[in-house]
Amino acid sequence: MARYTGPVCRLCRRENTKLYLKGTRCETSKCAFDRRGYAPGQHGQRRSKLSDYAVQLREKQKVKRSYGMLEKQFRLTFDKANRMQGITGTNLLILLETRLDNVVFRLGMAPSRSAARQLVTHGHFLLNGKKVNIPSLRVRQGDLITLRERSNNLDTIKGCIESGPSRTVPQWLEFDAEALRAQVKALPAREDVAEPITEHLIVELYSK
Ligand code: SF4
Repeated sequence: MARYTGPVCRLCRRENTKLYLKGTRCETSKCAFDRRGYAPGQHGQRRSKLSDYAVQLREKQKVKRSYGMLEKQFRLTFDKANRMQGITGTNLLILLETRLDNVVFRLGMAPSRSAARQLVTHGHFLLNGKKVNIPSLRVRQGDLITLRERSNNLDTIKGCIESGPSRTVPQWLEFDAEALRAQVKALPAREDVAEPITEHLIVELYSK
């Protein structure tokens, strides 16, 4: 599946919030958003009132970019959330949270979702004992995520766990950092997503 390969700090500046797309750099003074907290481009410093549509669009772009997805894949995920029982916005967040690359990121085994995606793509993980390399794979309750034997000593993962950013493992996941093994205790609930997301704006945008 295709992915965005352009400059990522521009995305934070465009969405007017830190999306933490660059791992540890995001916590340092080198963060482009901290240094230039306005939109990129010639007219980035202009202030203008956003229309309702623009507010909805920006929220959708923010979430989509935060999870490292492109429009087609994000829209398909929304359509799936729409077909599920329950609240569409919450379903959408659950579908996004249960992506394997996001789970690896939440466990603190990678500094960013894009790094987690790369680790998955390179086949370092086993899901219920089977090798997987699809970042968009969805985990289910009870699933077991482990590292392949040859990946157990991977410096990227070990270093990230030992000195990683201050990220707490969400309560729907259980992580044994010694054994490098995680289990999905339950599906995430809305309150497990701590980032400020107004999902009803995305539902309104796609419902037009
Ligand atoms: Fe965003 Fe991280 Fe770049 Fe800062 S360093 S602008 S948080 S991607």
